[in-house]
Amino acid sequence: MNRIYSERHIPVLLKEVVDNLVWKPDGVYVDCTVGEGGHTKAIAERILETGGKVIGIDVDSEVLQIAERNLEAYPNVQLFKFSYVDLPVLLNLLQVHKVDGLLVDLGVSTYQLKGEGRGFSFNQDEPLDMRMNLESELTAHHVVNTYPEDRLADIIYNYGEERFARRIAHSIVQNRPINTTRELVEAIRKALPYKEIHNRKRHFATKTFQAIRIEVNKELENLAKFLSFAPDLLTPGGRIAIISFHSLEDRLVKHTFKNDPRLEPLGDFIAPSMEEIAENPRSRSAKLRVARRVGIF
Ligand code: SAM
Repeated sequence: MNRIYSERHIPVLLKEVVDNLVWKPDGVYVDCTVGEGGHTKAIAERILETGGKVIGIDVDSEVLQIAERNLEAYPNVQLFKFSYVDLPVLLNLLQVHKVDGLLVDLGVSTYQLKGEGRGFSFNQDEPLDMRMNLESELTAHHVVNTYPEDRLADIIYNYGEERFARRIAHSIVQNRPINTTRELVEAIRKALPYKEIHNRKRHFATKTFQAIRIEVNKELENLAKFLSFAPDLLTPGGRIAIISFHSLEDRLVKHTFKNDPRLEPLGDFIAPSMEEIAENPRSRSAKLRVARRVGIF
């Protein structure tokens, strides 16, 4: 791996996750989105002396290499390149029948966003890619250059919550072929009124880039699939903790935790403190929800 990358990912709501997820000192926990390993490390540390274990998975083989280095000192961690959508297959292979906790930290890792060459960021000029799993077929290039205008507009509106979605989709279609992140930024710029470009708190391309990333990685479909089987993987009393950064994801999690008879939500959502947001602005839209598997002990 020779990509330039200097900034480390700061795990969001770290103490809150560990305090709420780890309830059994000798339990087995799965970090379904291990990333650079920040949450995995804190969970592993908490249960190291008491016989607990963490299974960490991620679809991104590059980010997993960083996690391997960061977690070298933890013999109670096992890492695998796997999608959380296929977690039942992995647990079957490992002959683990039930686990005591599941963590999903949605969104992108700093490595993916800030490292060179992955096409996630509007701040660099790179080929349009945005795949978290480098083996999957669908790329941002395909979405941007082949999807019909209406479908693009719906994606940008729904996943990006972008008011000017129709205008942006039209401009994308007019400016095809679009091969790089900079060309995509330019197509977005042409679609937006002057004051939207200059007065928005965040970069004017943020919402459209987020929407395309969610589509490329099928993030909402994957979360919905995961929520449908996850409660069956938990021991009675087992916990599931999900950090989301998007209102559609949070709505799905909230609805499932409230209505799935296998689960009982533990309190309302937890948001980062002012101090955490000041230290790590990426955390500002994070919401942590935790639920417990109901059942007979
Ligand atoms: N908690 C991590 C940490 O502290 O370093 C950061 C996780 S980062 C926000 C989200 C991670 O989820 C990314 O590394 C991404 O590759 C991974 N991911 C996305 N979709 C996935 C999936 N379907 N299965 C497994 N990992 C996935």
